[in-house]
This record gives sequence, structure tokens and C-alpha cells, in this order.
Amino acid sequence: VLKGTGHGALPPMLEQYVQLRDAHPDYLLLFQCGDFYETFGEDAERAARLMGLHLTHKSSKDFSTPMAGLPLRAADAHIEKLLLQGVRVAVADQMEEPGSGLVDRKVTQLLTPGTVTEERLLSADENFLAAVATGDGYALALLDLSTGEFRCAAFGTRAALYDDLSRWRAREVLLAPELSGNAALLADFQGRFPVMLSQASFDEDMARQELTLTLGDLPASLSSSALIRACGAVLAYARSTQQGRLEMVRRLSRYEPGAQLRLNDWALRALEVFAPQTVSSAPGAESTLIGALSETRSAGGRRRLRAWLRSPLRDGVSISARQGAVASLLSAPDIRHGVRALLYRAHDLERLSARVATRRAGPREVAALARTLELLPEAAALLEGQDGLLANLRNRLGGLPEVVALIRAALVDEPPIRSGEGGLIREGFHSHLDALRSESLGHRAWIAELELSERVRSGIPNLKVGYNSVFGYYLEVSSSHLGKVPTDYRQVATLKDRSRFTRPDLREHEREIASLDGAADRLEAEVYTELREQLSGHAEALSEAAGAVSELDVLAALSEIAAERGWVRPVTTEGALHLRQARHPVVERSLKVGSGGGFVPNDAELHPERRTLIITGPNMAGKSTYLRTVALCALLHQIGSFVPADAAELPLFDAIHTRIGASDDLAGGRSTFMVEMSELADILHGATKQSLVILDEVGRGTSTLDGQAIAQAALEGLHATGAYTLFATHYFELTRLEGQLPGLLNLHVAAEEDSQLAGGGLTFYHQVMPGAAAQSYGVEVARLAGLPQGVTARAASLLAGLNAQGDDGALSRELGALDLGQMTPMGALELLQKWQKAARGEG
Ligand code: ADP
Repeated sequence: VLKGTGHGALPPMLEQYVQLRDAHPDYLLLFQCGDFYETFGEDAERAARLMGLHLTHKSSKDFSTPMAGLPLRAADAHIEKLLLQGVRVAVADQMEEPGSGLVDRKVTQLLTPGTVTEERLLSADENFLAAVATGDGYALALLDLSTGEFRCAAFGTRAALYDDLSRWRAREVLLAPELSGNAALLADFQGRFPVMLSQASFDEDMARQELTLTLGDLPASLSSSALIRACGAVLAYARSTQQGRLEMVRRLSRYEPGAQLRLNDWALRALEVFAPQTVSSAPGAESTLIGALSETRSAGGRRRLRAWLRSPLRDGVSISARQGAVASLLSAPDIRHGVRALLYRAHDLERLSARVATRRAGPREVAALARTLELLPEAAALLEGQDGLLANLRNRLGGLPEVVALIRAALVDEPPIRSGEGGLIREGFHSHLDALRSESLGHRAWIAELELSERVRSGIPNLKVGYNSVFGYYLEVSSSHLGKVPTDYRQVATLKDRSRFTRPDLREHEREIASLDGAADRLEAEVYTELREQLSGHAEALSEAAGAVSELDVLAALSEIAAERGWVRPVTTEGALHLRQARHPVVERSLKVGSGGGFVPNDAELHPERRTLIITGPNMAGKSTYLRTVALCALLHQIGSFVPADAAELPLFDAIHTRIGASDDLAGGRSTFMVEMSELADILHGATKQSLVILDEVGRGTSTLDGQAIAQAALEGLHATGAYTLFATHYFELTRLEGQLPGLLNLHVAAEEDSQLAGGGLTFYHQVMPGAAAQSYGVEVARLAGLPQGVTARAASLLAGLNAQGDDGALSRELGALDLGQMTPMGALELLQKWQKAARGEG
């Protein structure tokens, strides 16, 4: 173990390393040594393992320690690797040019998965750091440092908290001590969220101070001590990683979890909103809803669309406002196309604003900011005369002409990446800077003329003035002319066929240039810092405009989709759901792209007297697709989008619950059946009259009889909640519930056995029809899928046997239902005869 002693036992540089390392115990320290970041001691072994680095040793006469380094230019890629593995990284840079003594080094960056703000280390999506505390219920604080978005909410139950934590996909979570001290809860938590857990202080007094420092005062919406502690903890932790700078955070918004459509992680997965559910489904974003909706043009728009999908609305007024904007852009294609063309050229204004707010923006980013801001007045002009949400956006887009003017006056059009190397401040902006530059130019001109004048003076026709970084300026003379070299030349180098000289006055001019250029570079950096300072004063207006751009982008994208794919504006109802010729937004597209037939649209109807639908039909008929079509239309409605149908009426759901497919939770180590049952339990607890429930093949994970019993019990339970339920099942028995439970109806997806096909076969129509399917066709599908003929034949005969047993079941039910008191002996005999015939297959 590498330990500091302070008594010179270690070489001074390692002593410095150990000091910095021990000041940041939770971090892996990358220690700059020239062109490399080095790690030493046991950290070197760890770093070598995590990043695949070569492990060497640093040795001196009586000392040796492991060492692993990576080149500075490859640092980003390695840091990203570390963050992805949940490692916090501290970067110590050299603060001065190496001289004779020990170089001064400081930790310049602390990077953790939830707090990185460096563009190159960020995924394009949100990047939330979360904190959770308890008191009366649970409090959650969420912070995205890359955009400054800061929100919090209180939850009554742990399930509701979990819903939102997964909804926002926090990358790093801070748990209050009362939570992280509870082993059972911690295990539960870690099983659900594969995120990094970090330590932070949740002290309430400190939290109050931190909130006041960041936001100016303590927001009134922080109504409980748990909320204050969670919000304070998230800020204090973030601040510690940002060298104290948190200016990008200016507002806290408290949201009501119940005010949104509930959509938990299972539902997001089952509906393939952000990620395809199974590995086998076509890879890539195209098989997801977000992929099908990816018509946004800017990074901010893309994030905003994800946020909308993650927290759909439940309030009709806001939904209708968004729909109205989509409709206006739909009916005015010129405006829509104009807006989208502008957005295409926009940089990520939300992140740029956050960088500007914290005075971190580099020259290139500031230039990009100006270019983007210049687009806003054009966008606002396009929205001239619009009303509703578009008018509101137009006002927020006002543009910031004074910011653009400031940047344009100060900065050259294409500045270098970093300040400090000159060449970024525009001529005419700063008189002293201009003076330094023109003086330097004077000296350069003198040197440029020197070649000509010295040729004349010395009579050497091919004398040249050259420059290299080692000698600086020199005069070069070929060997054949060496005799004519003037006496005031001093030789500095001899090459094979020529020699290089200098002169005192040449040195003098050169020194002047170096000193003037150095002064100019330093001054430029100062001027740039001043510019950044001024820009940060506009941070609030910038983030406002950035939000408007993102929102406009999403609305224009939804409008473009509606136009291109013939989607309609849904009508919000008090309770009834009616979809005419609805399509699955993702499958519809894949079928259009691929060959073969197109998507077969279907109708859907749900109301209190028709609230539970059992859907049967063979495998591959289209049951799942139908279920998801209904759910996705409901989701799209509640983000304010149009929906893929010819006509649509939809109520405002409070939640969409799903249980689709057999998603193995292998990581969690639970069996499919257990997962299924815990999902089902959640649904049964959570569903209300306002919920939409989508169940596919419930009970498949266990034996047939168990499964069937559970499926039926679940169905009855759901029926009692009054939720709208679509239930696709193989358990044909369940179709008998029609007529027993009010509001329960059978549907089936049409398929036809085709005796013309060799060996029998099925034709799918993907058409949803009233009534139960005639049979389950599992064996035919197996045949289609290529199971050997012997196997399917055996399956068919087994099935016949099972069906006969099924009749026994029917018989015992009939027996049970007999009212013997009302029966005549003759009637009994006739019944017995009928049963016997049936049993002999004569029937
Ligand atoms: P099930 O749930 O009945 O087993 P799926 O819903 O998974 O069937 O559908 C199987 C396949 O059939 C899908 O992958 C899709 O390609 C196709 N399909 C489903 N519904 C339709 C439809 N309405 N129109 C066209 N093709 C469809």
C-alpha cells in the first residue's frame, strides 16, 4: 500500500500524488505527468484492470511501486469507460510548465456517473443524479447538471417512488442514511436499479443552507423535511463535483407524481417505448416507439420527447394545447417545414445554456450559441399570427439579439477550441489587444523584409530567412556562399550543404514578437473570461429560449409524423374509448418498409359496459400487437400527439399497466413465474376504474391448471376494479366467463385452417372479430414453424386426448349444475344416454 509519510520516504512527486489521492478517497485519481495520466500503487493495479492498461513499475534506488498510465489524448475514452463501470474519477492536472522543481498539481475535475457535464462524456439523453430521503413517505430529488433541470416529488409508497426512479433512469443515486442503513431495503433497491449508489450528507441544516445558496431562497414547495434533505443533498453532492459552481441550477420544480399517467418500468419495457423487449426482436431503435417517433431535429427536442413519453399528462387542457399546436403545424406545411429546417441547424441550446451559466463554455461553444440564437428570430417570425401554445412559444423564442451582437463583436467566426492560445477575439473589439497585435505585426514585417535586404547587402542570391521551433528565426546560406557571410552573423547550426546564422537584431525582434504575442494571448484569455462572465448574466433567458426550442421541435416532429403517416387528432372523452382502424405505430412502419402485406388496422371499443375483453386466437395471429396498439394509442394521446387511426376517442387514463410476454428477470435471479406474479400483484393493487390494463398470456410460467386458475382469478380481480382490461390468452376455458361477468366480452383474431396447403396450415388475417376463437391452433403453428412431422402428429393426438379430458370437465360442471329436485326419472335417463354417446364419440 502506497502511503505518504511526510518525511521524505517517498519521492516528492509520489508524496504529492498520495496527498491528492487521500483528499479524494472515493475517487480514482488520474495524475498528470506530462503527456500522460498516471496511477500508482494499488490504484495502478485497479486502473490496469478497469481500463486494460499496461502495468509497469516506477522504481528508484530504494523504492518501487506499480504504475499504469494512459496518454492525455486518450483520456476521454478511458474516463467514459470508468464511469460506465461505476467508478468516480478525479483528474489532477499540472498547473504550471514543468521546471526544475516539483510541478504544482491540482484536482481540476471530479467526475461521477450522475454529475458529468462534459459534452463528450454525456449520453445524448438525460443524465439524472437522484437523492432519496424518507420521513412521512418518500422524497425524491432529481438533478440533470448538463441542462440544470432540477425537480422533486413526494411519494406515499415505495412502489410509487420506484416507478419514478426507473422512469427517470437516474445514473447515480444518493440514499439517505436511514435508507442505506436498512439492509433489506438496500437489497431490494439494488436488485431493481443497476445504478451507482453514492454517499452524501443529508443533514437538514446543511440542506437548507445549500438550497438558499443555490436558488436564492428556500422554495415554499419544499413542504417536508424529507424533501428539503433530498434536494439539499443532491445539490451539495453536485456542487462538490463542480468546483463549487452550480449556476446552471436556477429553479426547482416540484411535480405531483399522481398528476401524470402512471407508466412503470415494466410497462415502458412491455410497450417497447425506449428499448426493444427481447433480444430477438429486430435490433436498433427502429423497433421502439421512440424510434418510430424520432423525427425531432435537435438534441434538446429529442430529450424533451423522451421526457414527455416518460411522464404523459392527465390534464385535458394541457393535452389539448399540445394537440392544437400539432394541428396548426399540420395544416400549415410551409411553417412546419420552415421550422424544421431551422431546427436542423440548431445546436444543443439547453446544454450550451448550462455551460454558459457556469462560465464553462469554450470559444467554439460560444460561437455555436450565437449561430443557434440567430435562428430564433426566424423561427419566431414563422410562428407569427399563431395562437395558443405556438403563440406562447413564439414569445419565448424572442431571440436574444444583444447576446448575439455581443458574441459576434467579440469572437471571430471560427474560434479555436480553447482560449489561451490566441486567435479568438475579433479585431476591433479591444483596443489594447489590437495595439499589441499590430506591434507584433510590425516586427514580423521587419523579419519578412530582412531576406531581401540581406541578399542585397551580402550579395548571396539564395539567402533565406527560415523559422523552426528549436532555433527560432535564422538566416540560411548554402555552403558554396559561405565566404560571403557578413561578419555580424553568428553561426547557430551546420547542415550537410548549408549553414544557419542569426544576428543580434534578429534575436531582438524575435524576443519582441514572443513577448507581444504572449501578452496578446493572455489578454485574449482575459477578454474571453470577461465575455463569458457577461454571457452568464443571460443564462436565465437562454434556458427559457432553449426550453421553447425543444418544445417546438417535439411539436413539429409530431405534426410531421401525423402528416406523413395519416394520424388523427384524438378526441378526449369522459370514459369511452373508440379507435377506428387503429394501427401499431412501430409494426405499421416495419411492414411498410419490408415486403409482403401491409398492416391490418383494427377497431377497438371500451366503455363501462364493455370493459373486459378476452382475446383468443392462434399464436402469431396478432393478439399482442392488438393489445399494444390500444395501449400505445392511449399513451400517444396523453403526450398530446395524434394517433395512428382513422378516428379516435380516448379517455384520460391514470395508468397503463401491462404484463406482456415472458420477460425473464435473469439478472434479478427470479423465475419467470415469480416475476409474472409480482407484476400481477402490483397491477391488482394499483388498477382503478381509470386504468388501462394489458395482459398477455398470464399464467404461462406454470403448469396449465395452475396457470389457468391464476389467470381466471386475476381476470376476475381486475374486473372488480373496473379498469379497462384487454386480456390475451391461450386458456380457452376463460372464454366461458362471457355472460357470467357483466361487461366481459370475447374477441378473437381471425385465422383460417387451410386444407389446400400441404400438411395443413394456417392463414393469418390479423383481423380482430367478435366472439371466441374456434380453437387454439398451437399445433398448426408448430408445424408452420418447422417442427418435424412426427412431432406435430404426436402433439395432435395428445391434444385430442386432452380435449376429451376437457369434456370430462364440462361433464362434471353440467353435473354440478343439475337441479335433481326438478328432474324426472325419464329426463335423467335421457341425459345419461346423451353422455354415453358423447363418451363413445357417437355424438
Ligand atoms: P400473437 O400475440 O397472437 O402471438 P403477435 O401480435 O405477436 O401475435 O403478432 C405476430 C406477428 O404478426 C407480428 O410480428 C406481426 O408481424 C404480425 N401482425 C400482427 N398484427 C398484425 C396486423 N394487424 N397486421 C399485419 N401484421 C400483423
